[in-house]
Amino acid sequence: MIKKIAIFGSTGSIGSQALEVIKAHPDKFSAEVLTAHKNYELLIEQALAFNPNIVVISDERKYNAVKEALAKTDIKVFGGEDALEEVAAMNCYDLMLAAIVGFAGLKPTLKAIENKKTIALANKETLVVAGDIVMEKAVKNRVPIIPVDSEHSAIFQCLMGETRNRIEKIYLTASGGPFIGRKPNFLVNVKKEHALQHPNWTMGAKISVDSATLMNKGLEMIEARWLFNLKPEQIEVLVHPQSAIHSMVQFEDGSIKAQIGLADMKLPIQYALAFPTRIKNDYPRFNFKKISSFTFEEPDLKTFRNLALAMEALEKGGNLPCVMNAANEIAVFAFLKNRVGFLEMTDIVEKVMSEVPFIEKPVLSDYFESDAEARTLAADIIKL
Ligand code: NAD
Ligand code: MG
Repeated sequence: MIKKIAIFGSTGSIGSQALEVIKAHPDKFSAEVLTAHKNYELLIEQALAFNPNIVVISDERKYNAVKEALAKTDIKVFGGEDALEEVAAMNCYDLMLAAIVGFAGLKPTLKAIENKKTIALANKETLVVAGDIVMEKAVKNRVPIIPVDSEHSAIFQCLMGETRNRIEKIYLTASGGPFIGRKPNFLVNVKKEHALQHPNWTMGAKISVDSATLMNKGLEMIEARWLFNLKPEQIEVLVHPQSAIHSMVQFEDGSIKAQIGLADMKLPIQYALAFPTRIKNDYPRFNFKKISSFTFEEPDLKTFRNLALAMEALEKGGNLPCVMNAANEIAVFAFLKNRVGFLEMTDIVEKVMSEVPFIEKPVLSDYFESDAEARTLAADIIKL
């Protein structure tokens, strides 16, 4: 049986690597749906190479270009944001790889869950914003959510065979990003060119900046909270610059399981697409002789205040993680446009978190409203 994969966000870093995995295993997977926001040229190229059933270009202005380029094929072309949900509700695919970046991934993922499709989840913001609703819907519709984020994939893998055993705590490992050990007097001058250079992983622009500010680890704490049903105090971040141990689970007998591998996103992507099977591949193997030591340290919460803010959001819950996420998306966007400095991103997030009214038990519409309010406020602060 060939698994039909719908890649939402196929032109991104995760989406492109997923296509490499699909290409390497044509007997196991086919690309059924591909979607992109703006990068229509790459979407066309991918469509011609993989011959999917459907492509979606969510930026409507690029629809004609895609339609024309694929006119001689029988690939169906959809345009506009609503088409993402429309296609997510279709029956033509088996598994959605949720690889859109940011809040924009929430609606199509919810639609796929309602449509009872398995989700391979890269889009962590979906769980940060509305983890309670997403997980509740997944349980109700009996939909597995298989993590793609390397740390969460590691934890998920450690939990295999442990269904009856409770988690005491998890250790989320962090590389520390490109500015590990740096202090505010250095960070104040950091430009996007520095921030985009991650030591161990090549990723999309937004997550690269989040990794540099450690917001990424904060988002991942909240993601872990929902995926594995944990209390905030059961989640500990450990800086592990070698990025060899992708994360660890400690059980109630004190035993700890770790998952180790090369820092290559194709591994967790392949695991999620093929779950519960492990597929043989010929990627390079981890070599213990090449790493002289595994080191661990505590994150520097005073310098990387985004992580402290995310911990506060995790602790307080309600709409606060959603508000934080929205402010952070705007702040990162402004940083990538050279409109705000590296440390200013944190000031913006902090201010927005303190100003948007707190809602303890939000419903879905509250999340959309809080997201919009936080974005407007952040944009006002930056004068975008
Ligand atoms: P990316 O920026 O490289 O790609 C994002 C994709 O989303 C593109 O296909 C783009 O067309 C699409 N997109 C962007 N804005 C959109 C919008 N408004 N509407 C619809 N589609 C839109 O991002 P990435 O690095 O591939 O990351 C994707 C997601 O996976 C993020 O949530 C990220 O946190 C998560 N993730 C990424 C990595 C990694 O190594 N890149 C690792 C773990 C988790
Ligand atoms: Mg990660």
